[in-house]
Amino acid sequence: MKEIYFDNSATTKPYPEAADQARLAIEEMFHNPSSIYSRGIAVSRKMEEIREITAETINAKPRSIVFTSGGTESINTAIISALRNSRGRHIVTTEYEHDATLNIIKKYEREGWKVTYIKPENGKIEAESILNAVSSDTALVSVMHVNNETGNIIDINLLGTEMKKKSPGTALHIDAVQSYMKLRLDVEKCSADYLSISGHKIHAVKGTGVLYVRDTSRFNPVFLGGGQEKGYRSGTENTPGIFAFGKAVELNYGDFNKKTEYIRDLRDYFRASLEENIENIRFNSPEEGVCHILNVSFKGAKAEILLHTLESRGIYVSTGSACSSKKKGSHVLRSLGLRDIEIEGAIRFSLSSLNTKEEIDSCISELKAAVEDIRMITKFGRR
Ligand code: PLP
Repeated sequence: MKEIYFDNSATTKPYPEAADQARLAIEEMFHNPSSIYSRGIAVSRKMEEIREITAETINAKPRSIVFTSGGTESINTAIISALRNSRGRHIVTTEYEHDATLNIIKKYEREGWKVTYIKPENGKIEAESILNAVSSDTALVSVMHVNNETGNIIDINLLGTEMKKKSPGTALHIDAVQSYMKLRLDVEKCSADYLSISGHKIHAVKGTGVLYVRDTSRFNPVFLGGGQEKGYRSGTENTPGIFAFGKAVELNYGDFNKKTEYIRDLRDYFRASLEENIENIRFNSPEEGVCHILNVSFKGAKAEILLHTLESRGIYVSTGSACSSKKKGSHVLRSLGLRDIEIEGAIRFSLSSLNTKEEIDSCISELKAAVEDIRMITKFGRR
């Protein structure tokens, strides 16, 4: 049975070329980049090249790029660093952030910081709603660019520009884990002070990420030790992860328009086929959302049963974000005002440039049969 993978927001399959680079760092270029003999220097040079390419993709200076262990570390580090520097005691974020952001911010809240959680209105968070909550006491605004469950986009360029006019001392952190390599990012246009990226969402490997830090002179590192990454993040570098990341960046960035247009076309095809074939569904992703995420509620069909039925046919999807899927009910869908029946039946399909329309056709026919069977058992629409 050929497997079909539609869970690319949870993680992506590494490109073969990226896996080759990881192998190179494990088998041949395994030397410590801090070693001062030529083998070590070669590893260090390659890392610097990757830092330069990464910087170029977000219009940053290479010295602002810090390699980390992934999105969660980047986000935590950004928030801790921003709050250590601040005079204000107020944080602004949204209700539908990833847990990597929500849980560290809740920790500060328990310690006495004031936190404003912006609620989506009509399924969206407008930059203006975030701006209205900012005052001169706001130490940090931390928001995700693209929501990992629905694909909603926040206009970060408008947010950053206006926020810096209103309160220049407020730090801005952008969680760009789901937008990097899907939307164009420019740290100058959005005035980000910090920006977080994760390698395993762009066909590199797990345990690799990047933190962009605008003003490194004011940066407060979390990891102290041997002074790697110019002292911004101690610990011997994960060179297999960084090499794979560099290759994935190169492959995505070199073909940015072609790849994102291809994925958008797949998503639109998926949406139209669902509409044509299955009744009583609700799209939880906006049409103008990011290209790779399509969240749909199948009313009267429990998502978990659908997920496992599809799994038995070799098709992999998600009921919410991978990290929160073991908890009850998505806080993101709840924040968008969905009813219980819609939350219970919500499936997230997330696509990549490795998917095809034929895979979508197979998924729709399995889905149609599964939804009909479940609705028959639950007597949906016949009560
Ligand atoms: N932020 C968002 C929006 C995510 O989707 C994820 C992962 O799902 C993370 C942060 C955490 O990234 P990582 O898995 O690299 O720690």
